Amino acid sequence: MSGNFITTSFNAMLGWGRKYSLFHYPFVTACCGMEYMSAACSHFDIDRFGAGWTRFSPRQSDLLLVVGTISQKLAPVLKTVYDQMTEPKWVIAFGACAASGGIYDNYAVVQGIDRIIPVDIYIPGCPPRPEMVLDALLKLQDKIQHLEPDWRWKKKKP
Ligand code: SF4
Repeated sequence: MSGNFITTSFNAMLGWGRKYSLFHYPFVTACCGMEYMSAACSHFDIDRFGAGWTRFSPRQSDLLLVVGTISQKLAPVLKTVYDQMTEPKWVIAFGACAASGGIYDNYAVVQGIDRIIPVDIYIPGCPPRPEMVLDALLKLQDKIQHLEPDWRWKKKKP
C-alpha cells in the first residue's frame, strides 16, 4: 500500500476532539479563585491543554469549574447554572470547600457540591496548587477520551 493514511474509530476521534476543546465556566465564589487565575493565566497556561477558552455563559460551556465555598443560599444558583449547560458536560470541584465544605463545617455551607450536582473530578487542597489543577484537567481529558458516547436515538423510549 502506498501513500500516508491513518486509522481510527469514530468514538476515538470524537473523544480526541472533545477533550481538546473544553469551554469552561468558572463559578468562582471565594479565595480559591486566586489559584484559578494563576492556573488560567500565562505562567501555567491551561490553554496548552485545549481548555483556555473561558465562557461566561453556561449555555456555551461544557466544563463547570466550581471554585470556592458554596453556601446553602447559593446552591440553587449553582444547580441552575449546571442545568443550563450543554450536553455532554463535566464538573470539577476545585478545592476543599467545593469538594467537601472544607473548613466550613456548619449549617450555612454545602458540605460538598456533589450533594447538588454530579462531580467528575475532585481537586483537594486549600487552595490547590495550579499544578494540581493541570493534573485534574489531564485526568478529566482521559475520562472524556474513554467515555462511551451517549447515542440518544438508540435509547429505548420510556
Ligand atoms: S478551599 Fe481554602 S482557599 Fe479554597 S475557597 Fe475554601 S477556604 Fe478558600
